[in-house]
Amino acid sequence: MKEQILLVDDSKSERTSIKNALGELFDDFIEAEDGLSAIKAFIDKKPGFIITDVEMPSMSGYRFLETVRQMEDGHDVPVILLSATKDSLKGKLTGFNLGASDFLIKPFNKEELVARVKSLLRIRALMTELKQKNILLEKLAITDDLTGLNNRRYFFEAVREQLALGVRHNFDVACMLLDIDYFKAVNDTHGHLAGDAVLKTLGTLLTTAKREGEILARFGGEEFIICLFNTDPDSSIKAAERFRSIIEEYDFSSEQFPKLDRITVSIGISVCSQQVASSKDNPVTIDELLKTADTALYRSKSGGRNRITLLEHTV
Ligand SMILES: [Mg+2]
Repeated sequence: MKEQILLVDDSKSERTSIKNALGELFDDFIEAEDGLSAIKAFIDKKPGFIITDVEMPSMSGYRFLETVRQMEDGHDVPVILLSATKDSLKGKLTGFNLGASDFLIKPFNKEELVARVKSLLRIRALMTELKQKNILLEKLAITDDLTGLNNRRYFFEAVREQLALGVRHNFDVACMLLDIDYFKAVNDTHGHLAGDAVLKTLGTLLTTAKREGEILARFGGEEFIICLFNTDPDSSIKAAERFRSIIEEYDFSSEQFPKLDRITVSIGISVCSQQVASSKDNPVTIDELLKTADTALYRSKSGGRNRITLLEHTV
């Protein structure tokens, strides 16, 4: 990526001497001669580095810096202030209080400018690395590492958010617990690696069958969970049938595990009318929905497995 720097100074010769000093560190020099055109250049080009003069007509370097720091893309961009002020301590304090990354007094020493720019570039690179690691960690924190599906932590957060919306909009919500039938036998007969392969494939199948707006997660062990919004008992049964049938029809055998065959799942659904729930001033919680779904799942299991049971959750 091209490294861009924005140089702001009302003196063209000053801009040229900065450019000459930093020629090896940047590929693209964007120039502006006052604060206002610098703001426009920053918005248009999003440069990754800024050096700005303080004393400029119409808008000073301080005002420009202040504006940049208030912009979403401007929080972290390194900004070096250059000033020809006589009262350098006061100028520096003002600059740093406004968020300057560094401050140099004119006339500056070229080697010092280069050294300070390099130091800020190093810090910026470390910050970028840290941000990327944080994004990865956030993703890992909500992902089930075996199946790649969302985990229950994500599920609870996402559903709570949706339920809060549901109370306002009065839509119905359904919670579906899905459990693999005789999973222990799969592990006992074919080994735990085969069990893991089944879980992974099941995760892929569920993702394939899932529709937009449905929240799917691995709940733990051989249990998966799906939440549906804006639904009713009939549509919830149809949705559950979509998941149940894709699994029943799939051939789980593979080169690694040729003896694996068919797998089935039992499903328990709880459906709750938010209108009823909120009219009683008692919005339904995800824990209550899960409890009812668990009872429904138990009925599917005791009723012979590979089937769907729906219970209407009452408040
Ligand atoms: Mg000036």
